[in-house]
Amino acid sequence: MNLAELTARFRDAVARSSDARALDEVRIAFLGRSGAVTEVRKGIGKLPPSERPGAGKVINEAVQALEAELAAALARVENAALTRSLEDTSDVTFPGPPAKIGAIHPVRHVAIDVARYFTRHGFAVVLGPEIETDANNFDALNIPPDHPAREGLDSFYLRPDLVLRTHTSPMQVRAMRKHGPPIAIIVPGKAYRRDANDARHLFMFHQVEGLMVGHGIHFGHLKGMLVGMCRELFGPSADVRFRPSFFPFTEPSAEIDVKCPACAGTGEVAAVQCRTCGGSGWIELGGSGMVHPNVLRSVGYDPDAVTGWAFGCGLERIAMKRHDINDIRAFIENTPGFAEGLA
Ligand SMILES: [Zn+2]
Repeated sequence: MNLAELTARFRDAVARSSDARALDEVRIAFLGRSGAVTEVRKGIGKLPPSERPGAGKVINEAVQALEAELAAALARVENAALTRSLEDTSDVTFPGPPAKIGAIHPVRHVAIDVARYFTRHGFAVVLGPEIETDANNFDALNIPPDHPAREGLDSFYLRPDLVLRTHTSPMQVRAMRKHGPPIAIIVPGKAYRRDANDARHLFMFHQVEGLMVGHGIHFGHLKGMLVGMCRELFGPSADVRFRPSFFPFTEPSAEIDVKCPACAGTGEVAAVQCRTCGGSGWIELGGSGMVHPNVLRSVGYDPDAVTGWAFGCGLERIAMKRHDINDIRAFIENTPGFAEGLA
């Protein structure tokens, strides 16, 4: 390669370079230590000695000129890059769209409201294991060995002596064994039953359990606290009734019903049967009663010295009534926007 050829190729390469990095590559290829100009310089050695100084001078001047051209080209591309960035009108300090943070799940919302009510009245919130002993889940709660729930058709047994708790009540037993009376606790949490999922059943659901034991505790305390809870959940004017019932772990026992907020207890909305209560005018919230003496005995309490009351409610059921949801499966389907729509 001779000097003229090098100069031509160099100018061509500079013209095709659109940024500083490309120009630097051109510099290395033509003017660098192993570049084309070194090749040309080597040609000097083949000239007669008298011509060598002149040739060296010509090459040096040429290289200086090319370096100046390169510097000018670099200034040009950098100036163009600056102009482009100035023309970009994006404002990086402009606030972005608000982030979606979701909403509290309606079932959890009920649990929070119930816990807030009871803690305000001095109750402690305790949580228990979801895998329970057969003894805590059934025996200690006065559920006899021949009860259908114990056959394994209604309950998830992990071993003959271990079951996924079928209610949150075993935590009552654990709490009473750990602490002497008086005791006032609520137990929110998951429970499991061997139901096929349908509009009214899930194999896993949430309950809240309440227990108060002490000297002179009577049914009036139960009614007072549970009427208060229903009014916390359904408004200050909610009507509540206690309907005689049977549970193995309480005696006497009562179902807790709240007058239907959708139809005000009439069973009809605009001359059509009320969907929320199915026309009965009342909504069943759960069970309650005075703790059975056998349960107190099983945890080492003296039923002649202390008495107590307990209740249990399904949280999904309360959330369904609050939000007029007709299919319990909605709570576990993870439909986008479901919780936000109810919040
Ligand atoms: Zn109704």
